[in-house]
Amino acid sequence: MEYRLWIDGEWANSQDGRRMVIENPASGAPIAEVVNAGRQDVDRAVQAARTAFYDGRWSKKTPAERSLLLWRLADLIEAHAEELARLESENTGKPYQFVSLGADLPFIVDNLRFFAAAARDTHGNHAGEFMRGYTSIFRREPVGVVGQIAPWNYPLMMAVWKIGPALAAGCTAVLKPAPTTPLTALKLAELTAEAGIPPGVVNVVTGGNDTGQALVEHPDVRMVSLTGSTATGKKIMKTAADTLKRVHLELGGKAPILVFDDADLELVAAKVTLASTFNTGQDCTAATRVYVEQSHVAPATEAIVEAMRGVKVGDPFAEGVQMGPLISRTQRERVQGFVERARAGGAQVLTGGGVPAEFQSGYYYEPTVIAGADQKAEIIQSEVFGPVLTISAFKDEVEALNLGNDVLYGLAASLFTRDIGRAMRLASELEFGTVWINDHIPLTSETPHGGFKQSGFGKDLSAEAVGDYQITKHVMVATGS
Ligand code: NAD
Repeated sequence: MEYRLWIDGEWANSQDGRRMVIENPASGAPIAEVVNAGRQDVDRAVQAARTAFYDGRWSKKTPAERSLLLWRLADLIEAHAEELARLESENTGKPYQFVSLGADLPFIVDNLRFFAAAARDTHGNHAGEFMRGYTSIFRREPVGVVGQIAPWNYPLMMAVWKIGPALAAGCTAVLKPAPTTPLTALKLAELTAEAGIPPGVVNVVTGGNDTGQALVEHPDVRMVSLTGSTATGKKIMKTAADTLKRVHLELGGKAPILVFDDADLELVAAKVTLASTFNTGQDCTAATRVYVEQSHVAPATEAIVEAMRGVKVGDPFAEGVQMGPLISRTQRERVQGFVERARAGGAQVLTGGGVPAEFQSGYYYEPTVIAGADQKAEIIQSEVFGPVLTISAFKDEVEALNLGNDVLYGLAASLFTRDIGRAMRLASELEFGTVWINDHIPLTSETPHGGFKQSGFGKDLSAEAVGDYQITKHVMVATGS
């Protein structure tokens, strides 16, 4: 693997980009230097994807042929799982045990195998007679060249969630990884060639926000898919309007957890702790706002605080570590800023709320629980993207629902109760793309993941994701009466 650009099936030097340093967030030490691609580089990558799309080397392959090549790529990821997991851990600070063979990597392989199968799905392709003397055919065509922009929290998984459905649909892609975490995407690029995916079908340009902007502005890019913050989503949608591109936006979240008086509080504490500290809380579906029925606030708070204190924070490669550092110094300052403003606003920090004393280097932050915040306070309303939970009370089901829905985001929510009727009522009323009942966080390749409200639109995972990269064409044949 090289730290250059991946364009048209080979490593390419930058024409107009500078270099940028990549750090290990567990130590702050530099681990690589990659290209910060400029406009000319982006243009070359788009032209390669455009040629690969229009000469049919990908879009004209049969679904079975595309499927086989995606399956081969999944096999190669599996064969390189350890190397990829190590690289991902070093670049993101994630505990190695959560990336390696026991966690992210097998899921990523499964995601890609699902998309390999979905490439052969025939739903949506149909025909019929709707006017005498004519047959109408509904064709599902690939959108064309897609620009795909990824965040730093699950770099390899996000890259696969992007290229998997796009390639299954017959599109060609230019992927821009996040500025801080480009390394596994570069390795993935190399594996696409080894899998036999033709040159130009997947191109990877590393770089910052300007690189992403150039991709969104490019007139030959037909669709932009972003996973990132809501603020970036808004910017991209505005930019895409100039060339009227299709946009697919997987944005921020602020997940509520509604805990009723019949819930198993030990289960709640365990699930909420895992879902707020997994990936150091840098997860768009992370558990962030816990609302507990008034009568059970005290025992629930006690159980959650105890569980949060028990999370083992440390070096990503150390045995038994459950939570590593945040991604960067900037992100830690951001998280710290949210907690300090909550404190200044009158909320109580029940545990955490600072940098653990034992870590002099790296961007570690303590698992944090905050109580007494006002529903309209920033700490309840805005995405922190760190291991920070708030606990608040509600008096009845109606109030629980209102508080849960009372944010701009709509990505994921959960509720804990033994009352199946209440669970189903609330599941239908919560305005979130995923609702878990008596759990929080698991996803599968078959099930759609995406937002309501300002968490964006379009789905990742599932057959719906493949459909998002296709466009329906109506062909009408005069058959004679
Ligand atoms: P970010 O919005 O800062 O950056 C995301 C990507 O967008 C990066 O590659 C960045 O370089 C690029 N970008 C930034 N400005 C751009 C512009 N003007 N034009 C084009 N590209 C631009 O997000 P982040 O900090 O990397 O990731 C964290 C965010 O991602 C959180 O808000 C999180 O909730 C969200 N996220 C959402 C999901 C989901 O599935 N909904 C999954 C993971 C992360």
